[in-house]
Amino acid sequence: MDQESDTLRHHCGVVGVHSANPDNIPEKLFYGLFALQHRGQESAGICYRKEIPEDGSGRFVTYKDLGMVSTVLSRYLNKPHPSTLGIGHVRYSTRGGNQLENAQPLAASCNKGTAAIAHNGNISNAALLNTRLSTEGSIFQSSSDTELILHMIARSRQPDFKSALLETLQDLEGAFSMVMLHEEQLIAIRDPWGFRPLYIGFSEGLTVVASETCALDMLKIRDFREVEPGEIIHIDSSGLRSETFSPKEKKRRCVFELIYFARPDSLVFGESVYLTRKAMGAALAMDESIEADLVMSVPDSGNSAALGYAEKSGLPFEQGLTRNHYAGRSFILPTTSQRELAVRMKLHPVREVVRDKRIILVDDSLVRGTTSRILISLMREAGAKEVHLRLSSPEIKFPCYYGIDIPTRKELISNSLNPGEIAAHIGADSLRFLSIPRLKECLQDGEGYCYACFTGEYPIQPREV
Ligand code: SF4
Repeated sequence: MDQESDTLRHHCGVVGVHSANPDNIPEKLFYGLFALQHRGQESAGICYRKEIPEDGSGRFVTYKDLGMVSTVLSRYLNKPHPSTLGIGHVRYSTRGGNQLENAQPLAASCNKGTAAIAHNGNISNAALLNTRLSTEGSIFQSSSDTELILHMIARSRQPDFKSALLETLQDLEGAFSMVMLHEEQLIAIRDPWGFRPLYIGFSEGLTVVASETCALDMLKIRDFREVEPGEIIHIDSSGLRSETFSPKEKKRRCVFELIYFARPDSLVFGESVYLTRKAMGAALAMDESIEADLVMSVPDSGNSAALGYAEKSGLPFEQGLTRNHYAGRSFILPTTSQRELAVRMKLHPVREVVRDKRIILVDDSLVRGTTSRILISLMREAGAKEVHLRLSSPEIKFPCYYGIDIPTRKELISNSLNPGEIAAHIGADSLRFLSIPRLKECLQDGEGYCYACFTGEYPIQPREV
């Protein structure tokens, strides 16, 4: 199996930049995307408006490839590329979809001008819209939802780009936080439910839109706000215009952004990712009945929650697992010994910490349980007396239709086994998940989130053809 799929995967991160004066926009996109690398490692790309000084005009230049930001886009660090606007994208492709044609941004010219788009999320009625457009004669070059949006704009009977875009947005369901370029304009859009985060920041003539605030920090931008659910913002040389394109829906922000995806130094949905994760760990400790000697995390994703757990329980926190940051991705690993080796390459116990200890081991979530099983056996091999696994999320039982790659229901361990059975299966002495009510207590507005992968109650039903 694919060892990496024992974790949840994000699809994308986006950045958009507009400058009042010509600036090195590709370089700014590079640094913004670099900060968002955790949101997607399969491909990276930018599209910017190249200035033609001779006649004051410009044209869109797109560059994208499979690989990490530092590899794909480092060419833009060597010399200045004067420009006033651009967008960028990092992508993690869904299984089987690691293809260059699905890399973003996508740019196209039509009767409504030249436009480019970078999108984070999943359009949950994409299959339906795709069939409609294909029947009407559209030919698609990729399988991404993003191309669909460009087609819908191009085929719209509205007289101009702006009204065609507004018409298109009315037909989209699901998650879309996106940045677009149209002629000399940067556009930021967030779906009415607010599934994925999107921020806009300002600094001395520079406007930057990004999935998380860590990208704004990278560009030294301190003045920022969220792009509101259902908001569309147009930015050009005359300033910024905001409008609401959809009546307010009930907010359904993805709680997994806070549990696992976002960087701990980011704000998402107005919440500090780090502090929220600590609160989740503390909430787990509140209901604890087990006696233990120390608290450890599965690094890096379990770090903040483990610190919160330790602080609340009064137990010492130890870094009992060492993560090798140079271990790359591991792919098809058919045998148990190969899978064990892959985990060993990435994570290894510190024998002197774990030996003869009763340990609370904190991780963010449990998907298939394969990594935890190997990790716990490594800890026992290193002399751990007891290992009690604590997860700072509820049990994942259902797939996601809004931009997160979750294995099928059959593959999710919490679908077939209860916590006691999972503990026995992975070799833990005990196992507990954070409950949904406790999770809600850790959030400022617990009712304004999506919990569908725990409950199966989807805020928008995915629509098949
Ligand atoms: Fe996030 Fe889960 Fe909802 Fe998907 S189903 S948006 S992963 S909370």
